[in-house]
Amino acid sequence: MEFLQKLGITSENKGTGTGQSWLSAGNNNIRSLSPVDGKLIGSVQATTRADYEEVIQKAQQAFKEWRLWPAPKRGEMVRLIGEELRKNKENLGKLVSYEMGKSLQEGLGEVQEMIDICDFAIGLSRQLHGLTMHSERPGHRMYEQYHPLGLVGIISAFNFPVAVWSWNAMLAWVCGDVCIWKPSEKTPLCGIACQHIVAKVFRENQVPEGVSCLINGTAEAGEWLAADCSIPLVSATGSTRMGKAVATMVAQRLGRSLLELGGNNAIIISKDADLNIAIPAAVFGAVGTAGQRCTTTRRLIIHEDIYDVFKEKLVKAYQQLKIGDPLDTRNHVGPLIDKAAVDAYNNAIAACIQQGGQFVVKGGMLEGENFSSGCYVRPCIAEVAHNLPIVHTETFAPILYLIRYKELEEAIAIQNSVPQGLSSAIMTNNIRESEQFLAHNGSDCGIANVNIGTSGAEIGGAFGGEKETGGGRESGSDAWKNYMRRQTNTINYSTQLPLAQGIQFDL
Ligand code: NAD
Repeated sequence: MEFLQKLGITSENKGTGTGQSWLSAGNNNIRSLSPVDGKLIGSVQATTRADYEEVIQKAQQAFKEWRLWPAPKRGEMVRLIGEELRKNKENLGKLVSYEMGKSLQEGLGEVQEMIDICDFAIGLSRQLHGLTMHSERPGHRMYEQYHPLGLVGIISAFNFPVAVWSWNAMLAWVCGDVCIWKPSEKTPLCGIACQHIVAKVFRENQVPEGVSCLINGTAEAGEWLAADCSIPLVSATGSTRMGKAVATMVAQRLGRSLLELGGNNAIIISKDADLNIAIPAAVFGAVGTAGQRCTTTRRLIIHEDIYDVFKEKLVKAYQQLKIGDPLDTRNHVGPLIDKAAVDAYNNAIAACIQQGGQFVVKGGMLEGENFSSGCYVRPCIAEVAHNLPIVHTETFAPILYLIRYKELEEAIAIQNSVPQGLSSAIMTNNIRESEQFLAHNGSDCGIANVNIGTSGAEIGGAFGGEKETGGGRESGSDAWKNYMRRQTNTINYSTQLPLAQGIQFDL
């Protein structure tokens, strides 16, 4: 496959890089199997503990130099990375699609998101500003400034194998930090491809070695980052189970963690919804990336007056869906990531039936020549009571639950009743309803949309969610502050030493 060669991916890949060079590592290999056709794409050497120590040393050394580069100059490096990503968009998009299984359109969209965050970070490199305050003491000036934080550990999930890293790394770099990235062991080649792209830019521009580090491994390598006192910030994206483990380890050493965890996202479909918008938003939200987005629409809370009409249209739309090779642009839905994900999907369907749910579009595995990886499943829809335990669980697969409501307060309460709090939406042309949904007592999620589905956030806003989603915010707005340390400075330019709060201390 040509795109693999163009990205420097071979059948055997070194898995530990420090920006400009690759460390030798041991023989413990991570095999990357494509969910598209079940074939082995390549293998990657897992990082040994000794190599990890070397990486951390290089990163610490690099930080001492990198933090002194003017921020706009660091932004210029990010601009050059953005240029390389533009050149490699097609190849990287194909790799994302082939290694992870999302449609090519979504693979290309993910790379576009990387380019967008580069553009955002370039402007940001000239806007890392603090505030000035008026001092209570005469002849004093007070202000705050933001300094680089140090080493940033990035743990990422399989479903956004390149974009999540870039949200973190591009901001961290303009902020003057250095990054150590551990990609998901299910998509290690995406990590290698990104490291090749960055290494080219950094090598050509004499960026100190260690500003961009890559380590590869299972949860154990993620634990090294979480436990490491030399890493002030660990940004972790993945399941709530993982987030709780990482947060506990980081908290034990009083480090900072930035958590982006599971979602259980709902759209409220009001009786005043424009169904021409609501149907495609619901379908794309539920089946895009085969239901493996953190922002996937998992629940539709539908007003009783339009419930039957909406259900009928939805079922018709599901009948149009084409499932198959995600690199074939005629298909809407690709495979799940692996057979364990298929088991989780089957178990959730069984639990739903056992708990009283009724399927109106039945699920099941697809078999035959075109589905030889054993990872293709049918998107399905069940009518449920909102309080079933399975409905409150994030199953990373295309299972959509339909729930009926009478009053908006009830719909909002149902929406907020799950432990997760990432993305939410309402479909309505009624301004009172949309305002109620966005009010203090409305949606409790980090993201709340009107007449847009739950998935597909833009990079300009802060991205993240509440409750079991972890509380972190990444990407746009002022998320950059996570990657810096704030310092308050008070300067006395008078000849007196007045103490704050008027305290007298005479010698
Ligand atoms: P996962 O939790 O299994 O793995 C994520 C990453 O964490 C991997 O790199 C893994 O090796 C590492 N890891 C696992 N256990 C660890 C531990 N104890 N210590 C340190 N590292 C550990 O998740 P996944 O299956 O790859 O991804 C799916 C999950 O990610 C879903 O729950 C999804 O909602 C969530 N997700 C959230 C966001 C968000 O922004 N909120 C974005 C993407 C994915």
